[in-house]
Amino acid sequence: MDDLRLKEFAREAGADLIGIAGIDRFKDLPQEKDPQAIFPETKTVILLGRRITRGTLRGVEEGTNFYNYLAFGQSWLSERFLALTTFQVAEYLEDNGWEAVPLPNLPPEVPPMGVRVKPDTPAPNVMLDFDDAACRAGLGEIGYCGFFLTPEFGPRQRFQMILTDAPLKPDGLRMERICPGPGQCQVFCPLGAIKGEKVITICGKNMVVAQTDYRRCSECKNGAMANPYHPAGKPDRLAAVCCRNCLDSLERSGRIKNQFQLSFRQRPVWVVEQTVDLFKI
Ligand code: SF4
Ligand code: SF4
Repeated sequence: MDDLRLKEFAREAGADLIGIAGIDRFKDLPQEKDPQAIFPETKTVILLGRRITRGTLRGVEEGTNFYNYLAFGQSWLSERFLALTTFQVAEYLEDNGWEAVPLPNLPPEVPPMGVRVKPDTPAPNVMLDFDDAACRAGLGEIGYCGFFLTPEFGPRQRFQMILTDAPLKPDGLRMERICPGPGQCQVFCPLGAIKGEKVITICGKNMVVAQTDYRRCSECKNGAMANPYHPAGKPDRLAAVCCRNCLDSLERSGRIKNQFQLSFRQRPVWVVEQTVDLFKI
């Protein structure tokens, strides 16, 4: 299988980001997070990403239109545009004689929904962590505030995945940091949800990541949205003020490639002041 031809095809099918990882990069994961639990013959994991266009965030940034993001940044982007890209790449692989398992990006926090059908397999449904997989495929990193960042678009993209038995040349791991860390960036959360720290290590890359109180995010009225798939999933923060701040900061510091004539933030940011009673959540 020619990996360059596959990437060319994926780009023609609309992919902005393509990352390839050999299955050996997933060997440290537990069975419930192992791609081979879904497809035991998996040799290669392919991550496909499409950007959230910057203008899709504009209505939320101005505080005047939230639906545009929900359509073009969330449901239509994942379930129409990116799903079509993923399906076309899966068809391409299968046209060439390799099985291709397309996977939507469902929350890895979703608990098992059933009982194990064999003693040596995990219970259905195995939910993979796409941010973790995108890191293993060399596409980027988990930033301090918990957003997956790429050097192309910062935090604004969505991913889907294909598991295949095709042997493909893996992309290199991306060891250099995109996120400068809280010391050099204005980490901003009006609800105080970002605090504490932990270190995440993926394929030898250490990332210091803040511990986020997602109970506060689930109450946040500053552009955060409920997880569209499952109540156990984390809230969608990609349009929230914390993530829009992150985007603006990465653009201004020249840390991402997709640059614009005008800066993203044109006016002082709006914020809804809130008191969150954690005992009521
Ligand atoms: S979603 Fe809201 S509460 Fe959560 S980190 Fe972002 S700004 Fe803070
Ligand atoms: S806001 Fe700054 S510190 Fe937080 S993830 Fe983005 S770049 Fe990193």
